[in-house]
Amino acid sequence: MRFVVMSLVQHVQQALDALSQAGLLRSPLTITGPIGPAIILEGKEVICLCSNNYLGFASHPLLVQAIKDGVDKEGAGAGSSRLVSGTLSVHRGAETHLANYLGMGDALLFSSGFSANVGIVSALLTQDDVVFSDSFNHASLIDGCRLNQATVHVYAHRDTADLERLLRLHRSKAREALVISETVFSMDGDVAPVKDIRALCDRYDAALMVDEAHALGVLGPEGRGICAAQSVKPDLLVATLGKSFGMSGAFVAAAPPIIRFLINRARSYIYSTAIPPYMASAVIVATDWVRAADDARRNVLRHADRLRGALRELGFSITDGESPIVPVLIRDPVLSMQLSTRLLERGVFVQGIRPPTVPQGTSRLRIAPMASHSDAQIEQAIAAFAEVRHLSPAGG
Ligand code: PMP
Repeated sequence: MRFVVMSLVQHVQQALDALSQAGLLRSPLTITGPIGPAIILEGKEVICLCSNNYLGFASHPLLVQAIKDGVDKEGAGAGSSRLVSGTLSVHRGAETHLANYLGMGDALLFSSGFSANVGIVSALLTQDDVVFSDSFNHASLIDGCRLNQATVHVYAHRDTADLERLLRLHRSKAREALVISETVFSMDGDVAPVKDIRALCDRYDAALMVDEAHALGVLGPEGRGICAAQSVKPDLLVATLGKSFGMSGAFVAAAPPIIRFLINRARSYIYSTAIPPYMASAVIVATDWVRAADDARRNVLRHADRLRGALRELGFSITDGESPIVPVLIRDPVLSMQLSTRLLERGVFVQGIRPPTVPQGTSRLRIAPMASHSDAQIEQAIAAFAEVRHLSPAGG
């Protein structure tokens, strides 16, 4: 087969045109100022209902102050990878604090949840091993699986019967087995049956890795997540600091030998500059606030409940859920973006989510309130949905 020779720019332009024609082209909108319940988007004030800043910490004056104090004390950057000259006492302090909070043996910071998942999953397994991964797992977990040499089996979303079928077929052929699942799924807000998954791991001698990115801080006792809520002990627990914690960075909590192994093998840890020390010192402060934030947790879940109930009454297709994530199923990608634009014209920012982030035919609007939204802002958003209803499948 012969290719038409193209310059790189021509090639990417063709790809962009194809995305545009399919209604799948993405371009970020610009926000000025902090991410709070209301934001300045492209110069206009709107209610922001599509961040993962569930507890409202990203713009919390006390957290901002903790970061300023950290900069004064610790400086601007870590200077290098942790293994070169970059392990500061605040990094270890934050790791110990997070491990204690979760009742896990130790913890390890990464510069993002994406790099944590890619680094961990690619480091842990070899060609002799096998992975069982939920079909809705995050892109970073999928990429981690792609980067290692293990055999990967994808089980149907939250389907423990399918997981057991695959374990029965494939577990005994491998040395190590790892089951990987998010606990609250990022685009659907539904919860993995972690107790049943843990039982299967025990029965088939597999380790369990959970990604609590969307649960930590919001769900479970003291915001410790779904595993804590269901008294399940995972072997590895990953969570990002970019969502409820309001900052950036991430960590994995696990037994000390696993942490020591990752320090030696996780390439995104070894070959990447450590998170800024002021961030590590702020993590210690933020962990204590997250732990005590029962009122904020109640508020964000109350807002999500109100949105679920009201939008369902308006005829929108909303699945049940117990997390702050409220997906409004539209199905068509172009219509999803049109609805997002119409809502924005009414002062409400809700992002459309399209393939490949979600499966074909399941494009949606993903609503995620913050604890710091007022009841009036939530009602204003509901009123905007009522006005655009006629454009959606709900409106016929
Ligand atoms: N895991 C899940 C389930 C996520 O939703 C995300 C972020 N969207 C990540 C990992 C990546 O975390 P970070 O944003 O810190 O890279």
